[in-house]
Amino acid sequence: MATATTAIEPSVKISANKLLINGRWINSASGKTFPTVNPATGEVITQVAEADAADVDKAVTAARAAFETGAWRRKMTASQRGAMLNRLADLIEKHADELAQLESLDNGKPYQIAKAADLPLTVACYRYYAGWADKNHGKTIPVNGNYFCYTKHEPVGVVGQIIPWNFPLLMQAWKLGPALSMGCTVVMKPAEQTPLSALRVGELIMEAGFPEGVVNILPGYGPTAGAALARHMDVDKVAFTGSTEVGKLIMKAAAETNLKRVTLELGGKSPNIVFADADMDEAIEGAHFALFFNQGQCCCAGSRLFVEEKAYDEFVERSVARAKKRTVGNPFDAKTEQGPQVDQDQFDKVMGYIDKGKKENAKMLTGGGRVGDKGYFIEPTVFGDVTDNMTIAQEEIFGPVMSILKFKTIEEVAARANKTTYGLAAAVWTKDISKAHAIADSVRAGTVWVNCYDVFDAGAPFGGFKQSGIGRELGEYSLANYTEVKTVTVKL
Ligand code: NAD
Ligand code: MG
Repeated sequence: MATATTAIEPSVKISANKLLINGRWINSASGKTFPTVNPATGEVITQVAEADAADVDKAVTAARAAFETGAWRRKMTASQRGAMLNRLADLIEKHADELAQLESLDNGKPYQIAKAADLPLTVACYRYYAGWADKNHGKTIPVNGNYFCYTKHEPVGVVGQIIPWNFPLLMQAWKLGPALSMGCTVVMKPAEQTPLSALRVGELIMEAGFPEGVVNILPGYGPTAGAALARHMDVDKVAFTGSTEVGKLIMKAAAETNLKRVTLELGGKSPNIVFADADMDEAIEGAHFALFFNQGQCCCAGSRLFVEEKAYDEFVERSVARAKKRTVGNPFDAKTEQGPQVDQDQFDKVMGYIDKGKKENAKMLTGGGRVGDKGYFIEPTVFGDVTDNMTIAQEEIFGPVMSILKFKTIEEVAARANKTTYGLAAAVWTKDISKAHAIADSVRAGTVWVNCYDVFDAGAPFGGFKQSGIGRELGEYSLANYTEVKTVTVKL
């Protein structure tokens, strides 16, 4: 564990731990609360109001009223909505340090990284969608006959949004930004592991002056509050990020109820392909980052690391050395690169995969154990000699466990890269532009990085092929998730 000398003591006060419904902070109908835990210590930070179906119903009623009265989509002009989103971005920026502390306390991610990455990306996302509010307009269409035909891009209505715990603030921004920009009203359920930063942003939303009922935030569990949202007959659309397993439940719930629109951003098992002609320093550091960033808890983690045979031995040796140097410990220590896994369940799940890797005869080259005796810290772990059919090469581990596979030819790796049910992201490391383009062309994935990894921008769409999801978030593409197209034809 890192020493305490470069650590700070978090000073953030927890002000929001209730449900935000119709502009007010209230207890849940049942009066129930649940604990949110600091994964670095295993200790309870605070109790949070626990929403269930009755609260979801109340929140949907508020969101419906805010939608129907037009408080948000009509009485405010599109550019006023944009200005409001910019005001929220200003407030998040003003409170960035406090929000980074909350994020780190609740999720376990290093505070310095939250401050340097999660916060600026969150602010940029709200500003990006602030800009779109008055720019997503329809067309006039030259139809046959003496008619004037035009389209309107109308907000889809009341939107349910269910988000995960790995990037709480950022996932909230990816969801709220386009929905609010397009004039929708929202009922959001943050992950039960990390409700605190989402609730604090709820306070800032009210401070910015959003009309009541436009944004409702309900902390609670998936099978209760989450399922109630996905099944609600008066929710027009549900947007979900999380596991593929739950994504399927969301889609089923939508189909069985009111056919609400569904977008899903799910899991991945992304190929990260290193050719022998790559800049080895960059490829090794890039592959380390691609896997270990955010404690390995990234849907797009480069978790199937294919290395060309000619470079394999050097690459593996140096990757193991890099993993051994990775600093694991107190998230509030500036020297810390890796904090704890988010909770006991995730810790157990990752340790289970490490066991599986050993049992299936992958070669464990470093790590494999717990760090310290409290919290959910796991040693940076590297497996070599991994083959395509091993469990650790097929299932999403979502932890600091690197699996390295060997390949000989570009044709071979292109085929093996696609042997997965997922299709979220991929990367290729090479100095040969034709190899880079060949992989970018052949891989079935929503994002391909060339000689880089995890480069995100509010303008660049992100989402999955195959079972990694449906639809795209970010960029102009995500606006369609939150709009209905209306065709109007007028006899002249
Ligand atoms: P999860 O899919 O269960 O949780 C994600 C969100 O969905 C949370 O808000 C949760 O409360 C909600 N949810 C759970 N069950 C639900 C249901 N029946 N109806 C409606 N909402 C429901 O994910 P998890 O259990 O936290 O993690 C399990 C695995 O999922 C991880 O190990 C990882 O592989 C994957 N995961 C992926 C992402 C991603 O960014 N794509 C994020 C988190 C987890
Ligand atoms: Mg927590």
